[in-house]
Amino acid sequence: MTTSLRLAIAGFHIESVSFLPVAATVDDFERAALRGKAIIEQLRGANTVIGGFIDVCEREQVETLPLVHTALGAIGPATDQAVTRYAGEIAAGVRDAANRLDGVLLFLHGACWAQSFPDPERFIINEVRAALGTDKPLMVAFDYHANLDAGTLEGATAAFAYRKSPHTDTGDTGRRAARCMVRTLRGEISPVWAIAKPGVLVPSIFSATALRPLADIIDEAQRIEQESERFIDITVMAGFSYADSHNTGFSVLCVTDADRERANAIANELSQRIRHERHALYRPLPVHQIQGALDRVTRELALERAPGKPYVLLEHADRMNDSTYLLAALLERGVQGAAVPFLWDSAAAQQAFDAGIGRTVRLRLGGHSSNKAGPPLDVTARVLWAGLKRYRVSGTYMQGMPVDLGMTALLDINGISVSVVSAFAFAVDGDAFTIFGLRPEDFDIIVLRSKTHFRAFYEPIAKEILIVDTPDYGTADLCTLPYQRLEKRSVFPFAEDTHFDVRSYLEP
Ligand SMILES: [Zn+2]
Repeated sequence: MTTSLRLAIAGFHIESVSFLPVAATVDDFERAALRGKAIIEQLRGANTVIGGFIDVCEREQVETLPLVHTALGAIGPATDQAVTRYAGEIAAGVRDAANRLDGVLLFLHGACWAQSFPDPERFIINEVRAALGTDKPLMVAFDYHANLDAGTLEGATAAFAYRKSPHTDTGDTGRRAARCMVRTLRGEISPVWAIAKPGVLVPSIFSATALRPLADIIDEAQRIEQESERFIDITVMAGFSYADSHNTGFSVLCVTDADRERANAIANELSQRIRHERHALYRPLPVHQIQGALDRVTRELALERAPGKPYVLLEHADRMNDSTYLLAALLERGVQGAAVPFLWDSAAAQQAFDAGIGRTVRLRLGGHSSNKAGPPLDVTARVLWAGLKRYRVSGTYMQGMPVDLGMTALLDINGISVSVVSAFAFAVDGDAFTIFGLRPEDFDIIVLRSKTHFRAFYEPIAKEILIVDTPDYGTADLCTLPYQRLEKRSVFPFAEDTHFDVRSYLEP
């Protein structure tokens, strides 16, 4: 009887900084797209939502119909065409197989932004729902940085999201959604959901789930789950503050077994707690300015080097991996022993390759992605390595996921090790070094652009992690960003009655 279940699987994933000028096109998504059997072959066993879907389906002997999956990670907007195209492709796949399908497992980010879609995920869910019909379950798994409200989830039977940032539980999130699906189809549970929004935004760096008081609120959600005898699934989501939408910000999602009242009560209670703790949520860690951070690190390194324990400088406001503020400041000071992994600049990577390994080349490096990425740097670089680079993630975040960096070069720029890549990829673990035969522990200073995911790998090895704010689109000072769709009157930190000055929290 169980062998007769058949589920469609699909995914469309992008985290959009809506203020960035360049939108991801269908071509960009196509480069990351998998279809049909390739989805199963590539993502089986990977710590990703789709990997989690596949895991449960194979264990439960559920037949899968893999449609399309594309994931671009955290960049700028998506084009309208891209949203229409993948919503259409997924819906068409579901419609063609609707008679043979028992349900759909969908993986979406929740913070996609596109010009003509106030809520792209809502559009995708509704298209899939229309194709599937009203009676069959549609379970959606989201990122923890999803901006959701009840409208987004209207067409979903139940929804789930990562509970951790760094997102080390991506596979588990897929498993939660898939298990809920299988139990629903077997008649064991009848999921209903509720969502509540506290009207709170924080910068992504403060969305790390180990930070208090956020960690305490998430623990409380876990405690409620563990003490419940009936099925219940609670996700606290930080939202993504750099996607300008009417539903940007925190939300609490609660799925119960046929108990809507309880789902509502729990979502509201946790949401109120977030609202209450909003000031503390916005300042769990100090934020440094460039020169202050470099003064401090270079002073401490001059006093005592800590072999094997690099300082991590987090250029967190850089959303496109090509900001030049920190690299420029390091070069200006003549700092040695620093590394800047995975700077996104395909033209520079190609030029380095064309020059050849061992040669010296003049490059105009970085700062291309927007008017806030800092000026491109004119540098003379020695090419230590250049070529095409692919690998599989070895760290806990997205372990097993294939990464294709495209044309890549490892450069030495006045004693600073800079790797330049053609594909958009975050350096979050040791792979950014080991793929070149290097070790992160051998550097004194490492400049990263990750927000929270780097912590799984770097917290244990770092001498210290300093968050450095730069005038980029991912700044810690949300009040400087040009929101249009967000109703700022009603949300923190913009609402006037809060008297909240973000700048006062910056270290000199
Ligand atoms: Zn996320």
